[in-house]
Amino acid sequence: MSLDETDTLDETDTPDETLAELLAGNARHVARADAAAFDAVRDAQHPPAVSVCCSDSRVSQEGMWDVSEPGTLFTVANIGNRATTTVDGERVLDGGVAYPVTFTDTGLVAIVGHTGCGAITAAYDVVQGETDIADLPPGVRQDLGSLVACIERAPVDLDGPTDAVVDRLVEHNVGEQVEFVASRTDASVYGFVYDFHHRYGDRDGRTYLVAAGDGDPADAVSTDNRDAVRSLL
Ligand SMILES: [Zn+2]
Repeated sequence: MSLDETDTLDETDTPDETLAELLAGNARHVARADAAAFDAVRDAQHPPAVSVCCSDSRVSQEGMWDVSEPGTLFTVANIGNRATTTVDGERVLDGGVAYPVTFTDTGLVAIVGHTGCGAITAAYDVVQGETDIADLPPGVRQDLGSLVACIERAPVDLDGPTDAVVDRLVEHNVGEQVEFVASRTDASVYGFVYDFHHRYGDRDGRTYLVAAGDGDPADAVSTDNRDAVRSLL
């Protein structure tokens, strides 16, 4: 097994190079793995948190929470960090959230949006008539459809610079997902926005607490963390 630390993913790579780099990356993961890391979780998992984040490649869930131990974070990623889906015409909890809160005793759900979200921007473009949703691939159409409905419900002024409007819609979407999950589960539910556009503060990669399932997010944190509670709305 060769361990070339320089053999890493790059946006200019061909698919063949990318495949080789993925395998090289896994070889490094195996080499670094603690031999006992899976001992406590090999047969079952009880992760204390489920994190629902956008699939965006710039937003790393394990990275933002500084989590690396197996069994500690149940991760869900989709375009627009949605916690709901539609079954038989009814809006229900997405399986990625329903599963851990039902079967792995997970007591906290974190919904994480991010500044400059392409999914929210695309849904905003549909609402503004810039994009015809019928032209999109069916799966994207389905996913964006629920974001379009969310934007249409949002008490957000859609006029103004697009990037600023989109970031307010990102926060509104997080709040809606939090409200829905909190109304369907007994878990503690919190909403965050991951900021890499200096929209909430000046530090790239900081997550700001923007919503709590049971009320004011400022009441959920200690004085030390009060600075993490912010809102664009
Ligand atoms: Zn996104």
